Amino acid sequence: MKREMDCSEARERLSDFFDGEMSNEVQMAMADHLAECEVCAQELAEFHDLSQMTAALEHPLPPPGLWDSLEAQLAQADGVSAEDLAAAEPFRWTTGPFVPLVMALAASVVFAIGWIGYQSNLNMLNLAISADFDQYFNVLHQDPVAAQQLLLAKYEGQPVDAESAVHLVGYQPTIVNGMPEGYAHHSCNVIKLPNGNAVHCQYLRPDGSALAIFEHDGERPAWFGDRPATEAVHGDTKLKMVDLDKRVAGTWRQGDRHITVVGAHDANEIGQLAGWFGERTDVIDQ
Ligand SMILES: [Zn+2]
Repeated sequence: MKREMDCSEARERLSDFFDGEMSNEVQMAMADHLAECEVCAQELAEFHDLSQMTAALEHPLPPPGLWDSLEAQLAQADGVSAEDLAAAEPFRWTTGPFVPLVMALAASVVFAIGWIGYQSNLNMLNLAISADFDQYFNVLHQDPVAAQQLLLAKYEGQPVDAESAVHLVGYQPTIVNGMPEGYAHHSCNVIKLPNGNAVHCQYLRPDGSALAIFEHDGERPAWFGDRPATEAVHGDTKLKMVDLDKRVAGTWRQGDRHITVVGAHDANEIGQLAGWFGERTDVIDQ
């Protein structure tokens, strides 16, 4: 029988959960509870913030500009291009162990990168990214604005329109120019990720629920951590679908870039969007 957990037990175990010090069974029950219970999830988020502050006090701060120089190193190191590094990301599109909602050790992980060098930390970096995106996925369907704030704060997001986006990503992003009927434009911004900037837009359905859509160079499996993916084909387009508990994500190649949809109701919605973008691109190319 599946183990149930109530609020008081969840609060008691918050610290252990955060440190990853519990059995798989308890951890699963805890993750289930946190996915259902906003109050406890909030408690955990506060706990996370607190531990970040403590970590910042205990460790010297990284030198200013660390992130920029790290990116430059990534791009230039020994003839390894940023694309190569992106391609070398460990590919995790397979069934793997369950990653709890909170491996959210992002801040302390980012600090560590500067001290040790990028190579040994690619995996840690991916872990931090997948923890951030996991949080984003969990928050998106309840509170799209809060989810957006999360990404903007962590990845130096800048609000953009179709014109200003070009300067930040070096191409005309297709997702900024609208979506099929029934999706109302809510916001677009560019976020600065280690493997290259990504355009992030949110659209709202008539019922107020949010759909997020990203445009980026190369696939970004790190966003999905250990979540299993399935392959699907819609028309000529090969898609990868990832189950996000209550919602679905999907990603596919669109011309020179990739599009990732997050917060879809089902695989069908993703297939329809992929079809729509494919047709629109064909029209533009003619
Ligand atoms: Zn609770």
